[in-house]
Amino acid sequence: MRIAFGIIGKCIQGLILLLACESVFGRSVDSKVEGPSVAVSKVASRYGFSSYDVHGKQITLQGRFNMLEMEGNSRRASFNHVDFWLSGPPARSWGRWTMLQNDVDKMLAPLLNPSEAVKKEGYRVIVLDPGHGGNDKGANNMRRGIQEKQIVLELAKDVRGILKRYNLDVRLTRWQDVNLSLDERSQYAAQVRADLFVSIHLNSANSSKPSGIETHIMPLAGYPITANASVSSRDRVAFPGNRHDEANMVLGYMLQKSLLKYTRAEDRGVRRSRFYVIKCAPCPAALVECGFISNCKEREKLMQTEYKDRIAKALAEGIIAYLNTVKRAHNIKP
Ligand SMILES: [Zn+2]
Repeated sequence: MRIAFGIIGKCIQGLILLLACESVFGRSVDSKVEGPSVAVSKVASRYGFSSYDVHGKQITLQGRFNMLEMEGNSRRASFNHVDFWLSGPPARSWGRWTMLQNDVDKMLAPLLNPSEAVKKEGYRVIVLDPGHGGNDKGANNMRRGIQEKQIVLELAKDVRGILKRYNLDVRLTRWQDVNLSLDERSQYAAQVRADLFVSIHLNSANSSKPSGIETHIMPLAGYPITANASVSSRDRVAFPGNRHDEANMVLGYMLQKSLLKYTRAEDRGVRRSRFYVIKCAPCPAALVECGFISNCKEREKLMQTEYKDRIAKALAEGIIAYLNTVKRAHNIKP
């Protein structure tokens, strides 16, 4: 069953529609990811890639400045060595590999031509959102005395400090160790007319194994989050965050690329999640998970000032790269 909704004015309306959607159709029925698709060879020639190679399931499009690597039947792909998740996996059809047209239009095209993708976006007000706060500690390891809420606040203040040197207008959703609801964070961004929203977090897993950095952006309406393989009815709702699909891709890629460059951490990719603060953001938005507190090595690093400085620089540089792209799109000298 396919249900299409237009972009909804307010997030709350989105939630009402979402609830309506679930109550009408009963429990959520999952279905396969589908949609119009296009031959990868056509994509290669249309976007000026000079070579298109297929080895088994490995698909590589190589151009003078850009490389897209994909794997048949997998959503994980990489652009210029930064991993990201496609909405749907490349599939074999009539002896050739195809990919979703939506992934070409809203992921690949913005990566190849970021200025075009951000031309309707602004560049003046940046909102940094240190996750958690107050009695919501976020990920923590009390034995080692490390708390997510505390580190992400330090990071946000440091990023602001760097961005202020560039005369940028940077606001924080919280300055102290206080509780703030997710809605208050999104409302604050709307109230100050944010042009960019970056929520800063640290990760945690049940196992001590996972490590690395991931950047989350909104999935396209109608497509699943990274954690799910199939589409559920709730995936079919378009949220305010979907107004900025193309810019979200540019922002997510630039943040992840910069974070990897400065930290050399494992690349867990630009992922798709419908987290409240990015779903309801009034502007391009991303949520960064800057490392795992549950991983011993990464936790030790996250306690070092030198490593935290690197993360702050990386976030600032990613944000500046994005803003400069917007400025170029408006013909303003960065
Ligand atoms: Zn968090």
